[in-house]
Formats: sequence, C-alpha cells, structure tokens
Amino acid sequence: MNKNNCSWCNKKLDSEEIESPRLSKDDKEIICDNCYEDEYSMTCTLCEDMFDKPMKVEDGYYFLITEDRFGSDTLGKNLQSGIYKIIKFPFFANGITEGFYYSDAFQKIRDLTDEEKIDIKEAGHRDEEVCDDCAKKSLNVQKASEVEDA
Ligand SMILES: [Zn+2]
Ligand SMILES: [Zn+2]
Repeated sequence: MNKNNCSWCNKKLDSEEIESPRLSKDDKEIICDNCYEDEYSMTCTLCEDMFDKPMKVEDGYYFLITEDRFGSDTLGKNLQSGIYKIIKFPFFANGITEGFYYSDAFQKIRDLTDEEKIDIKEAGHRDEEVCDDCAKKSLNVQKASEVEDA
C-alpha cells in the first residue's frame, strides 16, 4: 500500500497529512483530512464550527428542533422547538417517503433564544446537530440571568 495516499479515497496526502497522519478509528489506516472529517466530524448548524461526531449518546449528542411539532406521527410527536439532548440511538428513521423522529429519544435541555429563532429563519437552518458549546452556552446565560434576578 502506498503510504502517501489516503487509504479510503486514494487522494495523495499533502505534507501536513503525512507528517501528522489521521488514522481511521477501526483499523488505524492512514486517511486524509477530508475523509476523517466526513466520517468523524460534524458541523454545528448554529456556529458552523466543526466538532467531533459523538459515537454514542454518552458522548453528548445535541440536536436542534427548529419548530414546534404537534401530533404528527411522521415528524416527531409533541416535540417543541428547542435544543435537545439525544438519549438513545437511533433517534431518527428514514421512511420510504419521509423520515421521522423517535420522540422518546429526545430530552429537551432548553428553549431557543430569540436570537437563535431569528437566525434560524434568516439562515434557513434545518433540524440538525449542534455542538456542545452552542447547546450549553445560552443555558449558562439563562442561568446566570436567573441568578441575577433572584
Ligand atoms: Zn481520503
Ligand atoms: Zn455550535
């Protein structure tokens, strides 16, 4: 095997990728940054930062629901807009015509801030994963202001 090429996509590795190679988690093969990011990273829909893809729910897997959903069997029953912690996999299923959420896999951790609601409308965010920081950031802000008010 040619060590100067990515084991997955066979792209030629650049000097940086050769110097500090990324290894696939299963069989420790040298892979390029692109493949690594595709497989092991996610982009936060809110701050657009890249973060490590959680491999299990214990790692902390946070999900944005952009709008309230009531009574629909196909898109999650009674899930209101907000930031949720995923408490079991799978939390989403792809049906033949459309996917749906398993509502019992979602644990709400907070409401969306007004800023986020505006952002969701303007940027056209969809329901998507969010990073740990975004999931908890406003939570801390909310808590801090609660303390101040008390
Ligand atoms: Zn590759
Ligand atoms: Zn984020």
